[in-house]
Amino acid sequence: MSDPYGAFVRTPAGKFLASRAGLPRPPRLRRYVADEEWAFDPAAVLGLRGAVWVDDVSGWLREGGFAVERDAERLSTLVLDATGLRSVTDLGELLTVSASFRRTRGRVLVVAAVPGELDDPEARAVQQGVDGFVRSLAKEARGGTTVNLVRVAAGARTSLRSAVEFFCSTRSAFVDGQPIVVGPGVPVPSRERPVAAVTGAAQGIGAAIADVLARTGHHVVCVDIAASGEKLAAVANRVKGSTLHLDVTAETAPRTLATHLADRFDGADVVVHNAGITRDRSFVNVDEEAWNSVLAVNLLAPVRLTTELLDHPGALAPGARFVYLSSINGLAGAKGQTNYATSKAGLVGLVQALAEPLAQRGLAANAVAPGFIETPMTAAMPPVPRELGRRIASLQQGGLPIDVAEAVGWLAQRDAAGIDGQVLRVCGQSLLGA
Ligand code: NAD
Repeated sequence: MSDPYGAFVRTPAGKFLASRAGLPRPPRLRRYVADEEWAFDPAAVLGLRGAVWVDDVSGWLREGGFAVERDAERLSTLVLDATGLRSVTDLGELLTVSASFRRTRGRVLVVAAVPGELDDPEARAVQQGVDGFVRSLAKEARGGTTVNLVRVAAGARTSLRSAVEFFCSTRSAFVDGQPIVVGPGVPVPSRERPVAAVTGAAQGIGAAIADVLARTGHHVVCVDIAASGEKLAAVANRVKGSTLHLDVTAETAPRTLATHLADRFDGADVVVHNAGITRDRSFVNVDEEAWNSVLAVNLLAPVRLTTELLDHPGALAPGARFVYLSSINGLAGAKGQTNYATSKAGLVGLVQALAEPLAQRGLAANAVAPGFIETPMTAAMPPVPRELGRRIASLQQGGLPIDVAEAVGWLAQRDAAGIDGQVLRVCGQSLLGA
């Protein structure tokens, strides 16, 4: 999938013309490459008043190969601990990091408290204020630098480490301007070869998710419709996984998947509900077929499969994690997509409803909401909306399937145990519904 404008403005002539005309100049994003050193410049960890995580975060970054030097001339990573800010006067401390921000090309991560855990109205307002700060800073960051926010609930040390490692890495290249809450989940030790089931794995984002989960040691059960035949087999071969031909909307699909996972694999450690379809048309032209087919694949199937997997003895391994593919169009609404947006917003409701009951069983459910991703689906869009979709994000470009897959791979990790009921946008800070 190509972005001809993005490629042109990276040539010397394109760069010159774009800067003269004030046109967008999408930066080249640095993505994960196995064994490549990311910590090319040092990281700095700055604690604002009342900070508590500076030593922990510095230690985790050092263990990850970073040099941690607060006064380095150039920084690849900047972590700010704002968890202790309680008064409006305290917020002024944010100004003290501006010189460090200016020297950072890479990742900025702000760590803050969960406002709902604070009783004092001013303290709560101040911590909520950090949200606006982060979102605005993300819009000002240059050169592919991302700025994200992690809110740490009481007792969430393990999940905080996992979040720091993700947001300070190349794996989060297209996650920008996003908040996430990490809670105190206790990770269940991983099995030697954990098992992940991915629906819609024959192509696009699902195939990329299979790649990432295989890279992180999973046996991937690649699930897709029978018509996906050779494409599905090719993905399964590539990831040394297995295939399961299954129409997720079939009456028998929940039982078939649950039995397969229980009998062949002693349960799944990760289930990714990725299969999805669109039938775009304006609301007045939506007929029952266009409505029902989209709702059946995108929402009813995940609801039914999840219910069966939770009920079926042995279908899930201890500590299993569900990830659902929502969409920013579900969060923001999209012209011509009443059916699709309804289904994708519905998935947000599903993970929110599942969060607590699943946490009680040591399980978790989260959603990833991709923005404009370069896939055959977006390549088929008319040129003007397609170009607009790419450029209305802070990173001024579409993401790649691998960007979504990296986020799913992180949420699937055992040490992200305290992340539950969350929706993570992977959208380059698209303005849609932001
Ligand atoms: P895609 O069309 O390339 O792939 C979807 C896969 O799902 C296909 O392999 C298809 O065969 C499979 N599938 C469809 N119906 C099925 C069924 N009934 N049973 C089993 N498998 C079925 O889509 P994609 O672009 O890779 O998107 C993957 C997911 O991400 C979807 O849920 C989509 O809504 C979501 N998403 C995509 C984008 C984007 O820009 N591409 C943006 C936001 C959200």
